[in-house]
Amino acid sequence: MGVKTIRDFTLEGKRVFVRVDFNVPQDKKTQAITDDTRIRASLPTINYALERNARLILASHLGRPKGMVAREFSLFPVAERLRDLIKRDVIFPDDCIGDGVKKLAKEMEPGQVMLLENLRFHPQEEANDPGFAQKLAGLCEVYINDAFGTAHRAHASTAGMAAYVKDKGVGLLMEKEIQYLGKLLENPDRPYLAILGGAKVSDKIGVIQNLLPKVDEILVCGAMAYTFLLGRGLSVGKSLVEPDKAKAAAEILSRAESRGVKIFLPVDHIVAKAVEPNAETKVVSSEKIPFDLMGLDIGPKTIELYKKEIGLAKTIFWNGPAGVFETPPFDKGTLELAKAVAEAKAMTIVGGGDSVSAVNQAGVADKITHISTGGGASLEFLEGIKLPGIAALES
Ligand code: AMP
Repeated sequence: MGVKTIRDFTLEGKRVFVRVDFNVPQDKKTQAITDDTRIRASLPTINYALERNARLILASHLGRPKGMVAREFSLFPVAERLRDLIKRDVIFPDDCIGDGVKKLAKEMEPGQVMLLENLRFHPQEEANDPGFAQKLAGLCEVYINDAFGTAHRAHASTAGMAAYVKDKGVGLLMEKEIQYLGKLLENPDRPYLAILGGAKVSDKIGVIQNLLPKVDEILVCGAMAYTFLLGRGLSVGKSLVEPDKAKAAAEILSRAESRGVKIFLPVDHIVAKAVEPNAETKVVSSEKIPFDLMGLDIGPKTIELYKKEIGLAKTIFWNGPAGVFETPPFDKGTLELAKAVAEAKAMTIVGGGDSVSAVNQAGVADKITHISTGGGASLEFLEGIKLPGIAALES
């Protein structure tokens, strides 16, 4: 792997700083945590360090406070949930740096846990400011990065601070991610199929380009498909599109063809006037999307077509929902794909918050080979890009 892991260090009594990904979804009004998967995913590393009597300092970002202190982005609810999960007290200071935090870190006893306040309350975190990175590094003797979800970002806590700590490595979660995703880069069983959905085609154009030399087939779904259909010269009504990316989408289709990679686009759609629960819907083919309606899910023929391809694949990577799965009835395509992926006789890897929610919603999470905690990070990893959060740990 080229980097050390937490198992390579003696942790007894040491101040161990673990960069975790506690960026959990919350209820917008009450800030109650709606899904604690990410906290649970960090438990193997946390428990590993505590079993060895480390002085454990945890740090994370939460949401996008834009470099300012904002109560709604406090990690306080996470500290409370963590307390319940590890059945130990969690020290929770009101900042992540400063004299108060330094003093607390110094006074910690072996086996104690401290969760720092949101790193992104400081603009220096995302700016990867060396002074800020050094302050974080000054809190510990061992630095562990276990935040795969932000490993594709070169921030102070995910990359910068590694330069100031001699003993550094990945946590158990990050190690697992690298092992599973690494299999897709090395020698995946073929056919290797990628299912790419979601809304933002601009984010994924580069991904698709970089995946073309690696995969055998791509199933395109979600709103992204409409930019591709537009690129093919079809009209897409009021569907969500990025018209300025239609040309790039068309180019990808022809490049794929010349490389012998099959890119599938939806052949039919569930259309409606608006994204509303139980909206009146119609099924239409790709050539007949009405000018006043929007495509909000893949249609039944597409589901069948995609299920067939999923059934034939030996390696499957899935990122991004097939439709507006948060709002029934537009969840059907995504849930059907989730079930098909779960039943496939293939190594299956699902990455990205929405696709992970979908496999949970479909009740098939335990049938997926690996559920990645990183959306953007898993995509960049599979593109073959060296993630800054991992590169910083190489000695
Ligand atoms: P992304 O962050 O790019 O992976 O996009 C995820 C979002 O795409 C989800 O919130 C879905 O509701 C949304 N989405 C998927 N399909 C569609 C669609 N056909 N129209 C509008 N939004 C969609």
